[in-house]
Amino acid sequence: MDTSTTPTSPTASAANSDTVLSLQDVTRTYRAGSTTLTALDRVTLSCRRGSWTAVMGPSGSGKSTLLNCAAGLDRPDTGQVFLDGQDIATLGEDALTRMRRTDIGFIFQRFNLVAALTAEQNVSLPLRLAGGARARTAGSVAAETLEVLGLGDHLHHKPRELSGGQQQRVAVARALATRPRILFADEPTGALDSASARTVLQLLRQLVDRYAQTVMMVTHDPQAAAQADHVTFLRDGRIVSTLSGADAGQIAAALADLETGR
Ligand code: ADP
Ligand code: MG
Repeated sequence: MDTSTTPTSPTASAANSDTVLSLQDVTRTYRAGSTTLTALDRVTLSCRRGSWTAVMGPSGSGKSTLLNCAAGLDRPDTGQVFLDGQDIATLGEDALTRMRRTDIGFIFQRFNLVAALTAEQNVSLPLRLAGGARARTAGSVAAETLEVLGLGDHLHHKPRELSGGQQQRVAVARALATRPRILFADEPTGALDSASARTVLQLLRQLVDRYAQTVMMVTHDPQAAAQADHVTFLRDGRIVSTLSGADAGQIAAALADLETGR
C-alpha cells in the first residue's frame, strides 16, 4: 500500500497526457449571512485515464462540491479544472453545456431516471440532446449499451418496473451512452441493498478494467471505496490523505481517524 499526503505535483499532472481530470488549487466558498464558508480549500488532484478514485470524508467535508466543480456543474471561485487538458473555466455557457452532455457522465444516489420513459428512452435521451450523428443512432446505441450492462431484456421497462439495482444500472448506461471522458458518481450505492450495491460496483470495476473508463466516486462505504484504485480523504474542504490499493479495513480505519480529528 502506498500512502501519501502529497497530491500529485500540478506541473507533472498537467503535462501528462494520461491525465483526464486535473484540479489545481480549487477553492469554492459559500456566503452564509455575514460569514464565508469554505467548502473547498485549495484542492489539487488528478485522475489518470482508466483509474477509479473514491472520495471520502465526514458529512459537510466538501465531497459533493468537489464532484460538482470537477464535472462543470458548479464553478470554483479560484483555481482551475482541466478536462483532457482543457481549462473548463474558459468555456462559455454553450460549450460548457455541450461538455456536460457528452464529455462527462454523472450518476446519483437516487438514480434520477425519467419515470415516464423506458430504460431505452432514458439511455438514448442524452444522445438525442447531443444532436447530429449521435441523435440518429441514439436508439441502437442505447439498446447496445443496456445489453452490455446486462439489461437487454429490460429495454422497454419503465423505472418503476425495475429493482433499485436495475435502475442504477440503467443510470450507468445513460451516463455512458455518450462515451464520456470521465464518469462521476455521488453515493451511487447509497440507496441500494448490499447485493445490488455489489453488482453496481462490479460493473464500475469492469468499465475501468476493460474499457479504461475513468471514474470518480463519492462514497461513505469503505467496502465500496475498496473497489477503487485510490481513495482521497477530505476534511473541512481539504485533502488530508490518499490511499492506493487499500482494503476496506484500512479505509475504515483512515476514515475513523479523520472523523475523530486525529
Ligand atoms: P459533503 O458532500 O461532503 O457532505 P458538501 O460539498 O455538500 O459536503 O458541502 C460542503 C460544505 O459546503 C458544507 O458545509 C455545506 O453546508 C456547504 N454547502 C454546500 N452547498 C452549499 C450551498 N449551495 N449553499 C451554502 N452552503 C453550501
Ligand atoms: Mg454530499
